[in-house]
Amino acid sequence: MDDHIRPQRVVIVGGGFGGLAAARVFRNRPVDVTIVDSAGHHVFQPLLYQCATGVLSEGQIAVPLRTVLKRRENVDCVLATVTDFDVEQKCVRALRPNGSGLQIPYDYLIMATGVGQSYAGRDEFARYAPGMKTIGDALTIRRKVLSAFEIADSATDPGQRDRWLTFVVVGGGPSGVELAGQIRELATTTLRDDFQHIAPEDAQVLLFEQTEAVLTSFGRKFSARATMSLRKLGVDLRLRAAVTDVDEHGVEVRGQDGTCSRFEAGTVLWAAGIRSSTVADALAKAAGAEQDMAGRIKVTPHCTIPGHPEIFVVGDLMALDQLPSIAEVAKQSGRYAGLCIRDRVEHRKRQRKPFEYNHLGMAAYLARGRAIVSFGPITLSGFLGWLAWLLLHITFLAGIRNRFGTILSWLVTFSRGSRRERITPVSASMAQRSGGTA
Ligand SMILES: Cc1cc2nc3c(=O)[nH]c(=O)nc-3n(C[C@H](O)[C@H](O)[C@H](O)COP(=O)(O)OP(=O)(O)OC[C@H]3O[C@@H](n4cnc5c(N)ncnc54)[C@H](O)[C@@H]3O)c2cc1C
Repeated sequence: MDDHIRPQRVVIVGGGFGGLAAARVFRNRPVDVTIVDSAGHHVFQPLLYQCATGVLSEGQIAVPLRTVLKRRENVDCVLATVTDFDVEQKCVRALRPNGSGLQIPYDYLIMATGVGQSYAGRDEFARYAPGMKTIGDALTIRRKVLSAFEIADSATDPGQRDRWLTFVVVGGGPSGVELAGQIRELATTTLRDDFQHIAPEDAQVLLFEQTEAVLTSFGRKFSARATMSLRKLGVDLRLRAAVTDVDEHGVEVRGQDGTCSRFEAGTVLWAAGIRSSTVADALAKAAGAEQDMAGRIKVTPHCTIPGHPEIFVVGDLMALDQLPSIAEVAKQSGRYAGLCIRDRVEHRKRQRKPFEYNHLGMAAYLARGRAIVSFGPITLSGFLGWLAWLLLHITFLAGIRNRFGTILSWLVTFSRGSRRERITPVSASMAQRSGGTA
């Protein structure tokens, strides 16, 4: 078909906050949109820790992209992992779940694959200390945390019992703080009366942060409040303490004075640092783009790769003006890329102004009845912050059904302390050892 007649093809790689915001811009427009995602669903990452600690189910915080985009007739969803790019021929190469290859041509490409967990060059830590970026990660964490209490309960050696009742969380950003708080809450409320041989509330949760404070992005005052809340919950907060080694029995930590100490722990969870995935490296190589230290792709003020006005990079993967890796940056940059493409497809003469991020606020959950929410000049903490946090997260969660389901689960958890999602799949290694199939 003649290029001037056929609809322009927009390929969006990644159906997270950035990719979805971009796809939504093309409603009823003369473009063919293909959204390729390796998971096939949109995850509301800010609630992953609640899935990891049994408050919410995976289905409550993730929705199939097909469901979200079902009314967009010009949007095609493809379940595949993008691995490579041919920027001359304008096509992306991907692998389907059965291992077969796929080539998808584009006129415009929007890259929105987000970032993964960084282990500061020590990827071998991942084996013992899962990060929390995907539904799979959250379920792994849930299994590890709940099994640790079970193993402790049947341990005959007091040393082993204490080790299984010790949980280490690495990183004092929002994810680390939320995880540490939730493990303590799980131990002191949900599991309190469930075991015969252990007192779950004795569980020790150690939170290591290498700088001098937690939640530094919220400012000094709220960081201090968060510190107080964590300590009240019983989290053992260790500041200026960098985790330098992890193995299956615990961690090694270097303090500010340079001395190293060993902490035995049955569960280690990693919530520090980000690193882009290999697909970002592939795009950077193919398009001659520069990457920052975390592997994010450096873009022009219009969110495009220099020399490639047809390739946009948005969300966490985009390196621009040191913008933070948060959902609102992803949504706004995704929408911006979509609008730029729409302008061009519709032959608008005026060039859109460079991308400007409009900061709406930040939020962190500390415990039942305690959260910090800041928007504009207003910062709320304690109970008011908690109410604002609940409202905010319900508003942004995708799907009416998920919203109602989440409200119900929260009502049960907040009023009775119980958590519905305590079933975990048996790990592959365990299934093998017992002769079953994993
Ligand atoms: C635990 C956690 C808590 C968070 N809490 C908050 C919070 O409270 N507030 C806040 O504002 N932000 C929070 N964030 C950050 C926020 O979730 C991210 O900034 C946002 O998700 C980034 O959106 P994105 O579209 O760039 O990437 P993502 O949402 O990560 O989406 C990337 C998508 O790309 C897909 N993908 C990846 N590689 C490929 C490939 N090779 N081929 C095809 N598809 C691929 C993935 O399956 C995924 O669907 C949190 C993040 C995490 C991990």
